[in-house]
Amino acid sequence: MQIIDGKKIADDIYRELSAEIEVIKNLDKRLPHLAAVIVGNDGASETYVANKERACSNVGFNSTIIRYPENISQQDLLVKIKELNENNEIDGLIVQLPLPAHFDEQQVIEAINPNKDVDGFHPMNVGKMLVGIPSFISATPLGIIELLSRYKIETVGKSCVVIGRSNIVGKPVSVLMSRNAYPGNATVTICHSKTKGLKEICLNADILIVAIGKPNYLTADMVKEGAVVIDVGINRIKSDKTKSGWKLIGDVAFDEVAPKCGYITPVPGGVGLMTVASLLLNTMKAYKNKH
Ligand code: NAD
Repeated sequence: MQIIDGKKIADDIYRELSAEIEVIKNLDKRLPHLAAVIVGNDGASETYVANKERACSNVGFNSTIIRYPENISQQDLLVKIKELNENNEIDGLIVQLPLPAHFDEQQVIEAINPNKDVDGFHPMNVGKMLVGIPSFISATPLGIIELLSRYKIETVGKSCVVIGRSNIVGKPVSVLMSRNAYPGNATVTICHSKTKGLKEICLNADILIVAIGKPNYLTADMVKEGAVVIDVGINRIKSDKTKSGWKLIGDVAFDEVAPKCGYITPVPGGVGLMTVASLLLNTMKAYKNKH
């Protein structure tokens, strides 16, 4: 069994991006710039945005965070997005989700210029990905693809089961795993909360991608010997073993599943760390598309 080390791969990506930044600096050119809009003061969103800002600074990107109070109107947010869309100094633009309940999130996503949509949530980018045209692939699915590719994991002709059908993970990763490219060319089954006989379906999988948000859901009796298991889940549970009183665990019962696997991603230290690295990859791509 081999652990897929998300930290190592994310660090490799940061090193590669830093090297590209050195070249850009030597040419005296403008640096890539990511702008993030955050509305309200949700603790998790603050942490995610802070991580993105730190990663930008570490590799040498410029970044701007625009903060609004929870009671800003949809209209005011749309006006700001328009302004950022038109700002030539900004390559990538994200609005941290989820937005407070009174926002129409889909309208906000669609207001972002698809050429700056480094989260890859705009229907234009989702559609392009579906038909195999170069586009921004959303960060978590892109992170999974990078992990499979950098560990040279065989996917062609494999049976891949994706559990979860969200727009940000399950659906896009199922499209990527079935596309005619590497990683891809797998025979994909997508499962969800209404799926019957999930255990039997999982037992047939060479590659299992689990993104449901239920702690320790995938147990050893659902996993074939030698399977590749990608755990996307991030679940915060109480713990008396940590100072903070809580810890993060995945959707996979790691201790019992890992011994059966060919490869497995841990939580933390797996897919989660790849999400920010992938966002920076997309920002570099947006920058290069402009130049
Ligand atoms: P979501 O809540 O939008 O969707 C969950 C999906 O799981 C749904 O499609 C539902 O049908 C399916 N599901 C729920 N219970 C099920 C069951 N018992 N059997 C089969 N399917 C079931 O989820 P999401 O936004 O894709 O997030 C899933 C998990 O991944 C969460 O823990 C989230 O925190 C995590 N996540 C991690 C990253 C990362 O960077 N690693 C990014 C996004 C989401």
